[in-house]
Amino acid sequence: MKTNFLFFLLVLFIPISASADWQRQEAAIMGTAIAVELWHKDDTQGRAQIKSVLDEIHRIDNLMSSYKPDSELSVVNANAANGPVAVSQELLSLIIRALEYSDITTGAFDITYASAGQYYDYRNRERPDNWQLQEVLPAIDYHHVRINKAGSTVEFLHPGVRIDLGGIAKGYAVDRGMAMLQQAGVTTALISAGGDTRVMGKRWDRPWNIGIRNPRNEEKIVSMIPLEDSAISTSGDYERFFEEDGVRYHHILNPETGKSSHEIISSSIIGKLATDTDALSTSVFVLGVEKGLQLIDSTPGTEAVIIDNKGNMHYSAGLARVQ
Ligand code: ADP
Ligand code: MG
Repeated sequence: MKTNFLFFLLVLFIPISASADWQRQEAAIMGTAIAVELWHKDDTQGRAQIKSVLDEIHRIDNLMSSYKPDSELSVVNANAANGPVAVSQELLSLIIRALEYSDITTGAFDITYASAGQYYDYRNRERPDNWQLQEVLPAIDYHHVRINKAGSTVEFLHPGVRIDLGGIAKGYAVDRGMAMLQQAGVTTALISAGGDTRVMGKRWDRPWNIGIRNPRNEEKIVSMIPLEDSAISTSGDYERFFEEDGVRYHHILNPETGKSSHEIISSSIIGKLATDTDALSTSVFVLGVEKGLQLIDSTPGTEAVIIDNKGNMHYSAGLARVQ
């Protein structure tokens, strides 16, 4: 009798507990793995929320990808050297944010890196030679990007300029997705786009744990970072690269040289918004350990975990205190 009652209870409760649950979905967008995870008391609504986040990330990719010839960004790249190009407020705002980071980092973060970056093809092991680099280097300078806020236009003041938002757009997409979830009343969620992750609330009354991987062994984690209502971005030299004669040619370029930056092999930044941690992780990677830590220690609400090219770990002041 008792067993039957238990069985009855189980049958009764399984479908109910399955309707309020954790949901997780992954997709390949913006050239990377996107993951959205959330808790929703209603299964169907939870799934619909995840779909709306993925749709939003698709929309941003279509707007800002430099790989899509009809994206708004590609239209700017094709025409802005000939005169002002009208753009959406959204694209304009992100370009302005990127230019602010150029000012903050004295040019280490610079979306005109693409003036040289366009000649690298990591999959096909292609890179510009030194002659080519000398020729395109004068085009790398964010001061060449002229913004007209009132007219919502972008113009390039040098014919060789190309821009690319690869160092900030994924963080922006994560923030947009999170804003949509917040508006919909979701209180517990994670969104990640490759190396850029943001979490909302806690996971089962505990902080979310985000791992920083060993840059030379993707199966190993060097550090677990507990996070609540914040973002973490990691930039590494292992995402897109090829090796030639012992030199690693990877996707984070020093705007001064047009070549890959080598002092750091992994930089992780923790902060409130993924747009900021994304731009800052790329910035610190280029700035190097000393200047990178100076920047993070003077930016309220941000922390850093850096691995240099000898495998040594460095922490920002706030984290060093708790190590
Ligand atoms: P990932 O794209 O692997 O998440 P990052 O956030 O570090 O890595 O961004 C690297 C991307 O940033 C590159 O693929 C490129 O699109 C762009 N980028 C490279 N160098 C710079 C730079 N100096 N300033 C701004 N953006 C850069
Ligand atoms: Mg970045």
